[in-house]
Amino acid sequence: MAQEGLPIIISAPSGAGKTTLLRSLKERLPALDFSVSHTTRPPRENERDGEDYHFISKADFLKMTDRNEFLEWAKIHDNYYGTTLKNIESTLKKGKDLVLELDVQGVEALRDLKYQGVYIFILPPSLEELKKRLTGRGTEPDSQIRQRLEVGKKEISKSHLYDFAVTNVNVDESVDTILSIIRAEKSRMNRYQPDCPEIRKIIESGNT
Ligand code: 5GP
Repeated sequence: MAQEGLPIIISAPSGAGKTTLLRSLKERLPALDFSVSHTTRPPRENERDGEDYHFISKADFLKMTDRNEFLEWAKIHDNYYGTTLKNIESTLKKGKDLVLELDVQGVEALRDLKYQGVYIFILPPSLEELKKRLTGRGTEPDSQIRQRLEVGKKEISKSHLYDFAVTNVNVDESVDTILSIIRAEKSRMNRYQPDCPEIRKIIESGNT
């Protein structure tokens, strides 16, 4: 049996640089899949339906929650976001590693479910830098920036939910760190599935 893919759960306070970082991670590791969440948030200018998110109405989202289609879902900044079970499971079964970008509420839900994966938290170098990045982005009005900063501080206080922390000072270095985390995680003995059947048999015989 092929090794199942690794769920890689990544969160960051809004403005910590996650989007840029994940774009670069995708370029460096093209084999990596990214889960596409459903959201009721309207698309931003450069976002595409089906690529960045599945953009749906609140009524449709609530229907999906009633049908238990989500592994987890959360209300964030007045909008709903959720990860459907269907696509995740089929990707992982194919042995493909999958990045799930979730907020802290989503991570709390997955931890409660004892969902297995590697949990990584991206942190800004300072609160000042976080504010600077949020303001510089120019996508949200002042009131929303203040709201996002407050939420960000609460999220940072939940860092203990994660296995690894990456301070995002420099994108390339942060991606290096994430790649090292993924490699190390995939080499854990309890996940390790050698390609060679003979070696696999010997390992399994020692396990019983
Ligand atoms: P944005 O609106 O800036 O794209 O995302 C806002 C927040 O929602 C980010 O922290 C992002 O990681 C989180 N998010 C995106 N998709 C999901 C999801 O499916 N579930 C949860 N819990 N959070 C999500």
